[in-house]
Amino acid sequence: MTNFLPLVEQFHSLQGEGYHAGKSAFFVRLAGCNVGCSWCDTKYSWDEKKYPPTSIKKIIDHIKIARKKGASFCVITGGEPLQHNLDNFCKAFKQMTIGERQNSMKIHIETSGVNTISGTYDWITLSPKRHSPPKNYFLKNCNEIKIIINKIEDIKFAIEIKEEILKQCRFSRIEDNLIKEEKIYYLQPAWNNKDGLSLAIDFVKNNPDWKLSLQTHKYLKIK
Ligand code: SF4
Repeated sequence: MTNFLPLVEQFHSLQGEGYHAGKSAFFVRLAGCNVGCSWCDTKYSWDEKKYPPTSIKKIIDHIKIARKKGASFCVITGGEPLQHNLDNFCKAFKQMTIGERQNSMKIHIETSGVNTISGTYDWITLSPKRHSPPKNYFLKNCNEIKIIINKIEDIKFAIEIKEEILKQCRFSRIEDNLIKEEKIYYLQPAWNNKDGLSLAIDFVKNNPDWKLSLQTHKYLKIK
């Protein structure tokens, strides 16, 4: 387990996407990703050697400041953040929130789900990729699913992923006798892709169990 992580950037902003869009959040972007999506808008984060290891303590210090200013949750993103073991980071985060009795700061993660889980989270955003499918753990335990839409094949993938999630959750209920929380399904058009946008809108219009997610931070020109 590591006490250092390759940090690309950290900043306090608004969550732009998904269920928590519009809320005050602190973002921790970690370097490193082997998934290799051609449309990736954070390619600068792929090579972790470019980013010096930063101590977890130092990252937590910045989160504390953002918390005082109003950030209600922290989003661990990347790159693919679970290329790193985040057990120590999550422990340090939970330690930080021990004194907060009500409405304690939450920790979220955005992942493609290709790596083994490490750490514990209040909210998991799964953004699975067609060319590199996620592990079953994430299908069962994610809170929201976000499929990036570039072309018609991505719509087919979204349908398949939802079927797989429902199947996995059915098995879990039988095996663990647990009722899993309802998940929220989003299609998110790739940025600046008109085909992706119209495909996503048409699909959501005809499939009300899916919602449209937009990268509102990009429209607003904020981080
Ligand atoms: S998984 Fe995410 S960070 Fe990695 S290449 Fe794909 S879009 Fe980029």
